[in-house]
Amino acid sequence: MRTQVGIVGAGPAGLTLALLLKQSGIDSTVIECRDREYVERRVRAGLLEQNTIDLMHQIGAADRMDREGLRHSGVYLRRPGHTQYIDMVNLTGRHIAIYGQQEMVKDLIATWIDRGGDIRFMASSVELSDLDSLSPLIEFTEGRRRIELRCEFIAGCDGFHGVSRTSIPPGVLKEYDLVYPFSWLGILAEAAPSTDALIYSWHEHGFSLYSMGSPTVSRLYLQVPVDEVLEDWPDERIWGELQIRHASEGWRVSEGRIVERGLTPMRSYVCDPMRYGRLFLAGDAAHIVPPTGAKGLNLAVNDVRLLAAALSEWYEQGSATGLDRYSETALRRVWRAQDFSNYMTQMLHDTGEGPFARRLQLARLEYLERSEAAARTLAENYSGLPATDDF
Ligand SMILES: Cc1cc2nc3c(=O)[nH]c(=O)nc-3n(C[C@H](O)[C@H](O)[C@H](O)COP(=O)(O)OP(=O)(O)OC[C@H]3O[C@@H](n4cnc5c(N)ncnc54)[C@H](O)[C@@H]3O)c2cc1C
Repeated sequence: MRTQVGIVGAGPAGLTLALLLKQSGIDSTVIECRDREYVERRVRAGLLEQNTIDLMHQIGAADRMDREGLRHSGVYLRRPGHTQYIDMVNLTGRHIAIYGQQEMVKDLIATWIDRGGDIRFMASSVELSDLDSLSPLIEFTEGRRRIELRCEFIAGCDGFHGVSRTSIPPGVLKEYDLVYPFSWLGILAEAAPSTDALIYSWHEHGFSLYSMGSPTVSRLYLQVPVDEVLEDWPDERIWGELQIRHASEGWRVSEGRIVERGLTPMRSYVCDPMRYGRLFLAGDAAHIVPPTGAKGLNLAVNDVRLLAAALSEWYEQGSATGLDRYSETALRRVWRAQDFSNYMTQMLHDTGEGPFARRLQLARLEYLERSEAAARTLAENYSGLPATDDF
């Protein structure tokens, strides 16, 4: 088999790339190791920046998001006795939307298949080779057949645990890593949210986040120690702790049946460059951020916006300039997002550094309340800096 661009991974990065390339008349095949049902149900991120919303429109996959997504103008920051609304629209002119990543993936897969796109689910034993040649190879097993897919380029969009990054020879990548000493315990509950916007709460017990999946479903998170196990958290303990950490006079977190729960360790990682020969990495395959800044999905989509433009430039004008600049350009936004995610994480979590550090966090939260410049900086980063050719 042959294709122009072999895409490994049918997450937000791989699928968005496939659709962008198709709009430029470039062929691609998407190789995914899971089945369709699994990827369409995998609950992860849920906050879309304006740039991501715009890109969903550009590729013609935005109808359901426009109908069912919850458009938000800002978020709340809470500490005991104080709640501040960060009004993104007034501060930056930019919106955010709540729309589950699994819903976005469903829409992208449906659009890709509708347009005749080639996608191979349940591809096993995926291997990449000849990456520094003009025709890199993806091999995978489909049913009982071993398939060789010759490509002109490969996009490694297979997430943090994928095969693409680890196919790069040792010594090529410089890797940056930061592991935080806590995790998030996340739940999905059948409960109509008792808030009209996300609430990020600082509390002496630790951080918690109140988010929503839809008008009838709440998503809530608690900071917990990194070695915690789910068995230590029966429902009553989860709800009790959420009520304490989000407490506000005359108001309560609405409770309901917990339908899903999980633990997410907090980690930051970046590899540099995001390229080896004709393999280009995008999204979580190249970088991950702690979810406090809601950047993971949005960064993944931004990478492929840049990569698609660079590949179009190659096929339409024979110019490698965009491809040669891809890693450097993408990494500028990645590091901005790393800094912002780290800032939000350090400001809101109990980092275990003692009372002095906790007081500094409160000083930062108070400053955000008093200074419009500080609030605007947070809002600009949270809602996403405008997408430009070089960022
Ligand atoms: C548990 C969890 C919770 C998260 N919560 C949030 C959040 O609340 N907010 C936020 O902003 N971000 C969150 N993130 C991060 C966000 O979901 C990711 O940044 C986003 O999924 C990145 O998209 P991607 O397309 O790069 O990678 P992925 O979504 O990981 O997609 C990669 C795809 O590649 C496939 N794949 C993997 N290996 C192979 C292989 N060898 N061959 C073929 N296919 C392969 C995978 O099955 C997957 O479909 C969370 C991540 C996790 C893991």
